[in-house]
Amino acid sequence: MSPQLTEYIIEFAYICAVALFVLSLRWLSAPSTARRGVLAGEIGMGLAIAATLLYHGIVSYQWIAVGLVVGAVVGIPLGMVPMTAVPQRTALSHAFGALAAAMVGTAEYYLDTPNISHFTMSALSIEVILGSLTFTASLMAAGKLQEVLPQRPITYKGQNFVNLSLLAAAVLIAIRLVLHPGETYLFPVIVVIPLLFGLLMVIPIGGADMPTVISLLNSYAGLSAAAMGFVLKSKLLIVAGALDGSSGFILSIIMSRAMNRSFTNVLFGAFGQVQESVAAQAEQKIVRSATAEEAAAILEVANSVMVVPGYGMAVAQAQHRVRELYDVLTKRGVDVKFAIHPVAGRMPGHMNVLLAEADVPYDKLLDMDEANPEFAECDVALVIGANDVTNPAARHDRSSPIYGMPILDVDKARTVMVIKRSLSPGFAGIDNELYYIDKTLMLFGDAKAFVGSLLRALTTAGNSH
Ligand code: NAP
Repeated sequence: MSPQLTEYIIEFAYICAVALFVLSLRWLSAPSTARRGVLAGEIGMGLAIAATLLYHGIVSYQWIAVGLVVGAVVGIPLGMVPMTAVPQRTALSHAFGALAAAMVGTAEYYLDTPNISHFTMSALSIEVILGSLTFTASLMAAGKLQEVLPQRPITYKGQNFVNLSLLAAAVLIAIRLVLHPGETYLFPVIVVIPLLFGLLMVIPIGGADMPTVISLLNSYAGLSAAAMGFVLKSKLLIVAGALDGSSGFILSIIMSRAMNRSFTNVLFGAFGQVQESVAAQAEQKIVRSATAEEAAAILEVANSVMVVPGYGMAVAQAQHRVRELYDVLTKRGVDVKFAIHPVAGRMPGHMNVLLAEADVPYDKLLDMDEANPEFAECDVALVIGANDVTNPAARHDRSSPIYGMPILDVDKARTVMVIKRSLSPGFAGIDNELYYIDKTLMLFGDAKAFVGSLLRALTTAGNSH
């Protein structure tokens, strides 16, 4: 094949890959097309890799083959982790991607110096700084989420000043390198400082805020790859990196907004520390609890039930039992719908993915804005392992850390039932006043086990009628 024809084939494959990446992001934004989105992304990536392997500049395939084998050996087990471990798995992927970008940038610098244009050196510096800090920050984030590192925020006086000074030092040295690329002794500094900055940046952030941080790091890894595209003159990398960078950034904004938090609050707020007094306070108030049989009797006579799933449903892996409950109630003429809060669980779309896995019909899933007006007309709001996203304090208690966060108005339903194991707080570490109002019945137990008991009680009651 002539080199020119190969070049055309590569370019054409890259255009197709880019189109597939764009379509993939588009399709991933709705549950009904999400599977198609994943497939489009996979085909696009396969096409991009295959086309790159045709590149005439490749001297030997040996090391590429070794890289593919090592990548597959690490990547396949990573793809098999349980759903609840997906945030830390994603952090590890960002760490590897960012490390690759930083290493390519380093290799390019030493290969080309001192014949590097100011523009290439600027792109290379951005690539190396973002790649290095994303590498260590992502490893820290994964460690905190996996609980191999302490989750609690570690803070000290002057922390933000130290961190920002380090970053400023790296940027100043990078500017010096852009002006004088031949000063090779400076280059290691723009690798080492960001590596250190990545560690220090994540130390003051609580484990519970890690999903938002990971999405921000996703954006940095994407921008680093886009900068690498400018260095390597690869249009594919520029577009793919920019898509990754911007979608990660938009996701971080959506997550912060749904928690009514600013980026600064996530990055510097040391959020998620459990209030010491919560357990003590909780014990003094009165709660009403019910057995599975009592709850089943109420559900049976309800006309409409709104299920509100949360992190506890994910932990208990109760989604299949919840689907069975949906089937049983629907068969008895109860109108059952699901109210999905944008930050229920620990990652965006967490509840949608779990309910889709259990084949709950998509049209029964209402997002927050659709669900809230319906609660007032609803006989039972059945909260399954959700906590913060239902806390009415967010609406009126100015002293609450979640004040202003939009919540699901479950307290407006005629009866509220909450399945959870205890009165323990959730992610935000605060008590939930929903548990103490007259219309609330606490159904204490593990979500999967309790929904199982509800199903048995409903079946027994059904048989005896
Ligand atoms: P949550 O407020 O964290 O509460 C989850 C509740 O589930 C806990 O109170 C826990 O109570 C219960 N639970 C745990 N294991 C259970 C089990 N096996 N069976 C039954 N219940 C169980 O969860 P949420 O209401 O879903 O709210 C999500 C929180 O995460 C929000 O504060 C949100 O801001 C934050 N967040 C979300 C994202 C995201 O992207 N989704 C990202 C970052 C932060 P017991 O211990 O008493 O059982």
